[in-house]
Amino acid sequence: MKYVIIGNGVAGIQAAETIRQFDSEGSITMIGDETFPPYCRPMISLALEGSVDQDKLHIRSAGFYDDLNIRPVLGKRVTGIDVDNKKVLIQEKSARPSLQASSTIMDLICKLLSIFGGDPGTEPRRGSETGFEFDKLLIATGADPRPVKATGLNLKNIFYMRTEVHVRQMLEILPGAKNALVLGGGLVGFKAAYGLLCRGLHVTMLIRSDYPLSMQVDEKAGRMILDQLSEHGLEVKVGVEVTGFEGIKKVERANLSDKTAIACDMVVVGKGVLPALSFVPRDKIQADLGILVDQHMETNIPGIFAAGDVAQSVDIARKISWVNAIWPEAVEQGRIAGMNMAGRQTAYKGSLSRNVIRIFDLDVMTAGLVNPPSDPSYEVVSSDNLRLNIYRKLVFRNDKLAGFVMVNAIEQGGILMSLIKNEIPVKIPKAAMLEPSFNYNQLMM
Ligand SMILES: Cc1cc2nc3c(=O)[nH]c(=O)nc-3n(C[C@H](O)[C@H](O)[C@H](O)COP(=O)(O)OP(=O)(O)OC[C@H]3O[C@@H](n4cnc5c(N)ncnc54)[C@H](O)[C@@H]3O)c2cc1C
Repeated sequence: MKYVIIGNGVAGIQAAETIRQFDSEGSITMIGDETFPPYCRPMISLALEGSVDQDKLHIRSAGFYDDLNIRPVLGKRVTGIDVDNKKVLIQEKSARPSLQASSTIMDLICKLLSIFGGDPGTEPRRGSETGFEFDKLLIATGADPRPVKATGLNLKNIFYMRTEVHVRQMLEILPGAKNALVLGGGLVGFKAAYGLLCRGLHVTMLIRSDYPLSMQVDEKAGRMILDQLSEHGLEVKVGVEVTGFEGIKKVERANLSDKTAIACDMVVVGKGVLPALSFVPRDKIQADLGILVDQHMETNIPGIFAAGDVAQSVDIARKISWVNAIWPEAVEQGRIAGMNMAGRQTAYKGSLSRNVIRIFDLDVMTAGLVNPPSDPSYEVVSSDNLRLNIYRKLVFRNDKLAGFVMVNAIEQGGILMSLIKNEIPVKIPKAAMLEPSFNYNQLMM
């Protein structure tokens, strides 16, 4: 059996290990454009804030591929899939080496151009195409940062924050940086702002909604987070966009849609992510926002699977097809895909968005649906003690918990999450679940 895995992030790694557990003979080829040994992507933000060393990001050793008899094809980007002939295609002569380690937005644009064709520079970019034949294929290419539209993106010190290389390059310029501008208040934008504040920079964040993390929390928790960040010096501008950057070689100033400008010597773009599927033939492999998979993580093409941030599956809390681009789901989806690829039929229950975030003195935990639609089948119970910065909100769909957000009293988060995941009906008064004394036994009575 010939297995090919595109992407050496956690979903790909998990799938490869699972396949090897059940198939010691089959050949496994992993193609990935990052060359660093497998690492914990969420922890790059901890490297930025300085609480974790960059060399502590590894989740597997450099010998991982040899140990599992995997053929690594690293530093290469897949450019297409020949579905009919069961082949994965890469450019033999890849794009300029510097693109591999690049961090500026211009570099990312170059990278995209090298995939789609077209060339802003003079170097020859295209070589012969090489194919990797497969019997079973996994697409686990994660997500790309959502690009920003603005002029002056070719200036230095404008970064995305997706890879360890991005953070390494940010760390290199930190000693000379004083003013940072962060675009976006989602998970990545927020983590970038938090990390740079921890490093002592003056940080301005531009957000579209009234508070950060609006996809993860509700307004009340969002405002508590915003207050906490503001108390520690974060400046937030709501409802303005950047229109362009200026500077001599390096970024020095950002022009905004309200006709004002902000002085900055570095910029981080954290405006969310998009599944990395530009090389996927959509006329053959069905995709919506992400690649559509069934409960076995298999696409509409038998033998072709997808997992992790690139895959779109059923969301347990929302009850719709959704991309939950989070680490634990990438791990689980990679494992389930690996099982099914190796012939062990295993079903995936669906994904659940969740996060635990520390913001100075706030611990925030959130899962599932926290901003329900105005529909009589939903019920919300909540409690707070704002003097102690405590807030809890539970969202029910009929008699089942569909989501929650908790600030600074997060101890029962594990129980609540299992109630959502296992769709357990709640028969006790819902408000009782807000009590600090609430425990699982009460549900069994
Ligand atoms: C700063 C940051 C903070 C985060 N914080 C959290 C958090 O707190 N909690 C949480 O749950 N999640 C968090 N995440 C999200 C989490 O990291 C992802 O959900 C997870 O890494 C997804 O794993 P994956 O294997 O699907 O994709 P990835 O980890 O993105 O791996 C995909 C790999 O495929 C490669 N690739 C892409 N396209 C190609 C191609 N065409 N050819 C070859 N290789 C390709 C990519 O370069 C990458 O190496 C965070 C992410 C970031 C960036």
